[in-house]
Amino acid sequence: MTDCLFCRMLNKEIPADVVYEDDDVLAFNDINPQAPVHVLIIPRIHIATLNDLQAKHAEVMGKLLLAAKEVAKQKGLSEGGYRTVINCNADAGQMVFHIHLHLLGGRQMDWPPG
Ligand code: 5GP
Ligand code: ZN
Repeated sequence: MTDCLFCRMLNKEIPADVVYEDDDVLAFNDINPQAPVHVLIIPRIHIATLNDLQAKHAEVMGKLLLAAKEVAKQKGLSEGGYRTVINCNADAGQMVFHIHLHLLGGRQMDWPPG
């Protein structure tokens, strides 16, 4: 989608600070990090929100989690721990409507989240 920020990053029209990529996903540092490690992991296909997921997306969504595991390992977070988050729509504070997994770590996380 030409008007989607993350699609434009995938198309290299906007630069991204990439930390991991493969055939299915791209992972890059968040521009406004909420933790010492804050990486966004996105599918190469445009899916707006969790509400738009279909059965055919099951594999790529699994790939997001596998990428999170890899990035966490790369960042030295595997043992200490980290958090993964997908915000959906307004009440969760979703701002970018290309589905993305937040990987947050490097500090103690609070629960419940804000
Ligand atoms: P959401 O609120 O939709 O779950 O998360 C969107 C995330 O995208 C936010 O954490 C925000 O900081 C990040 N973000 C917004 N614009 C940009 C950008 O241009 N580059 C990068 N790297 N991250 C962005
Ligand atoms: Zn998109």
